[in-house]
Parts: sequence; C-alpha cells; structure tokens
Amino acid sequence: MPGVFQQIEHHGHEQVVFFQDPDAGLRAIIGIHSTSLGPALGGCRMWNYASEAEALRDVLRLSRGMTYKAAVAGLKLGGGKAVILGDARTQKTPELLKAFGSAVDGLNGRYITAEDVGMKVPDIDLIRTRTKHAVGGSNEGGSGDPSVMTAFGVFQGLKAALKFAGLGEELEGIRVAVQGVGNVGYHLSSYLSAAGAKLIVSDIYPNQVEQVVQEFGATAVPPDQIYGVECEVFAPCALGAILNSRTIPQLKCKIVAGSANNQLETESDGFELFKRGVTYAPDYAINSGGLINVADELDGYNQERVVAQVGRIHDTIASILLRSSREGVPPHLAADRMAEQRLLEAKRGSCFRTPVLQESLPPAAR
Ligand code: NAD
Repeated sequence: MPGVFQQIEHHGHEQVVFFQDPDAGLRAIIGIHSTSLGPALGGCRMWNYASEAEALRDVLRLSRGMTYKAAVAGLKLGGGKAVILGDARTQKTPELLKAFGSAVDGLNGRYITAEDVGMKVPDIDLIRTRTKHAVGGSNEGGSGDPSVMTAFGVFQGLKAALKFAGLGEELEGIRVAVQGVGNVGYHLSSYLSAAGAKLIVSDIYPNQVEQVVQEFGATAVPPDQIYGVECEVFAPCALGAILNSRTIPQLKCKIVAGSANNQLETESDGFELFKRGVTYAPDYAINSGGLINVADELDGYNQERVVAQVGRIHDTIASILLRSSREGVPPHLAADRMAEQRLLEAKRGSCFRTPVLQESLPPAAR
C-alpha cells in the first residue's frame, strides 16, 4: 500500500490533519483538498471503519469530490471533508462532538464542517458550541435539513437532461423510476408528482414506499426490479456504485438523473452509458443543492437566494451535457473538465464566474 504522503500527493491535497482526544474518545481525520476557491467546506462522516487506512482513503476521496462539487456549483468554496472513526450509534457522545468542534476550530476557518453519514442536525448544534465553522445546524441562522434543496436541484437538472435528450421539459406523463424514497427521494417524488410525472418507486423499507404510493399515486416495485423498469428517467436516490456492469445492461431508461453520490462504480461505467446513448446527469453536479443550502449560511441564510441558486443547477447540467456532446466525452468527464477549468481560472487569479439562469420555481416540496 502507498505511504501516507504518497496518497496525499496522489489526490493533490493541500493538508490532512489527524486529531485525537482520548478522554473524549475522538479519533478524526480532516482532509483539506483545495482552498483555491475559498474555505474547504464538506460534511463530517462518522463511520466504524475496518482500519485507519480505510478511513484515510475515504476522507481523501470524499474531500477531493467536494472540491469538484463546489467548483461546478459555482461556489466560492474549496473542498474538504472530515471522518470520525467510530460507531455513530454507540460511540457518539456530546464530549466527542465538542472535542471534534475544538479540532475544527483549531483550523481557523480553513475547513468548515457540516452533516454527513452518521451525523445529524443536533450534532452540528453541539459542534457549534466549540466553533463557528460548522453549518447545517438548527440554531443561530442554521439551515437545517438540506434534503429539500437537494431534491429541488435534482428536479431542475432532470428537466435539463430531458430537454437535452429531446423529450422537452414538460414532465406530464414522463415515467420516472426512483430508487430510494428516503429524505431526497421523497421530496423529489413530490416535485415530480406535482409536475405530472408517473412515478415507479422502490425502497428496502415498505413503509416509505407505502407513503409515496399513497401520497403521489406511485407504483411500487421490489428493489431488484427498479433497474429494468420501462421509463424515461431512472433517478438513483439511495446508494452509490449502482451503475455498473450488472445493472447497466438492464436499464431501459433514456436518462439517469438522481441524488445518490458516486453512482458510477467505475470510470468505464460512465463510458458504457455514453456508448449506449443514455444521458447521465453527473451526480456531484446534480446533487449540489444541499451544499448550496448550507454554504448560504456563511452569508447569513436567505432561503429565496438559495432557491434561485439551486435553480441554476438546470443550466449547469445543460452546459455539462452540451460540452459532453461537443467534445465527444461522457458527461462525467465533461463535468470534471468544467470543475478543473474553474479551479485553474481561480489559481490564475481570474474572475470566478457562476452559471446564469433565472426560471420560475415550483413551491417547496412540503
Ligand atoms: P436516506 O437515507 O434518507 O434515503 C435513502 C433511502 O434509500 C432509504 O429510504 C433507504 O431505505 C433506501 N435504500 C437503501 N438501499 C436501497 C436499495 N437497495 N434499493 C432501494 N432503496 C434503498 O438518504 P438521503 O439523504 O435521501 O440521500 C440519498 C442519496 O443522496 C445518498 O446517496 C446521499 O449520499 C445522496 N445525497 C443526499 C443529500 C442530502 O441533502 N440528503 C445531498 C447530496 C447527496
């Protein structure tokens, strides 16, 4: 296995910091991938990693991903992420969270933390007792649960992908297969249903499926059948790595547009979708509504401004898909190129540009 410095160099990180506080039971790693565009913002994941090496790999991969997500979203933010080693169900204590807050505070704002797997809004509130460099809490202007804005951004990006694929932007009668109707999947279903789409849904929890069937007239299918559903759009809103050599041959959709992170199992799966003519809206570009939502707290949270900015995800997806077809590369590579171009422009000191689009916005999902 490559050494620690080799791994950090490989991903191009600026700084990786290890923290420990035995009294509080804290072992954490914060990865600051880039601050070229601004302070590194990204959630904190608490996970029972099988090894320290696995935790390091995760924080390096996730923090690099945040740099790309912020760059494509047009935010003046860099990419960072934190991992706390431990089981969030049994080892997350107020002392641990406060110790983590002190660790974040010691970085003087180079890293700003937020929610991720294993962390919830009240945890952010506790972290904020030790540092102001934490967003997504419920008090002092905190923006709370980001999933409504994530879903709204997916809804906008999905419409741009429909138009690109020659299906127009009207959702009336468009069949959308939603995998996972948790926080984001539920709100996305709500937007889609209000716009007249026909929903086919799956989840491993029957009660969540039942709610969407009752409220939005969705048709339920078992989890292993969602890939092969006849539809225009497949919207993965559950797990990562679900676009792979086993699932892609089953797809009958024209578009993949959903919130799940890291949807492509490998690079070659992105090429395979492209070869098959399936329009893929890159995950980190279409699901950046949650990031935009928490990032807005840094300027004093303003929901109207957030809705307008998340609405621009429509234009971002349209530009990525256009670039993909012009340059003859899959959309995931076109998105990477767009992010890298913005980072380069920032490094050269040129003015940072944001994509521009104003369009009418549907009401919030709830
Ligand atoms: P969630 O846990 O609330 O919902 C996920 C749902 O997927 C759950 O209901 C779960 O039961 C279901 N699920 C799990 N395995 C499944 C399977 N095999 N088949 C069908 N359903 C399955 O999570 P969420 O906050 O809604 O996030 C969904 C995805 O979007 C995740 O990949 C997350 O990383 C990503 N994401 C979320 C946000 C956000 O704001 N919450 C932002 C960006 C990206």
